Amino acid sequence: MTGTATRPLLFLDVDGPLNPYAAKPTRRPDGYQTHRILTPSMAGQPLPMPGRRKPLRVWLNPDHGPSLLALPYDLVWATTWTDEANEWIAPRIGLPELPVVQWPRPRQDGPGGVFWKTATLVEWAAGRPFAWVDDEVTDLDVAWVSVRHRAPALLHRVDPRHGLRADDFTALASWAVAMI
Ligand SMILES: [Mg+2]
Repeated sequence: MTGTATRPLLFLDVDGPLNPYAAKPTRRPDGYQTHRILTPSMAGQPLPMPGRRKPLRVWLNPDHGPSLLALPYDLVWATTWTDEANEWIAPRIGLPELPVVQWPRPRQDGPGGVFWKTATLVEWAAGRPFAWVDDEVTDLDVAWVSVRHRAPALLHRVDPRHGLRADDFTALASWAVAMI
């Protein structure tokens, strides 16, 4: 394997890939643990006085952190949780603090239905190869990236009913190996 500087980035969404929110509420997928999380931004006010909203039920799989760290990528949060992913998600799945993509406002999809995250991620990657796991990427995003990002990119849709599974990790590992 070559040095860190040549590793592709892996942009990580939370809701969908790590939290399979679309699974049947009564059937938590195997391997997941239930967390009830109310972050300051969800509560709309700083701690210690949350309580304007109920905590969000979040399913997380503690195997995901080690599995992601084993991949030959530099991991980056690409989620609406933004900085709160480092505090509320990372420790629960065994990830260290990671760089965080900050999003512009408003969060509106681009012309033709390009996902609102897409342009920001291409900018953030700044010409580095990247993979991106998200439940909301579509062929529109693949096409958009292919003409605006000079390096290779893998936009990998994850089913939010299942979250990241063995096949997804295999696809990510294979792509990175081909890249390096
Ligand atoms: Mg998502």
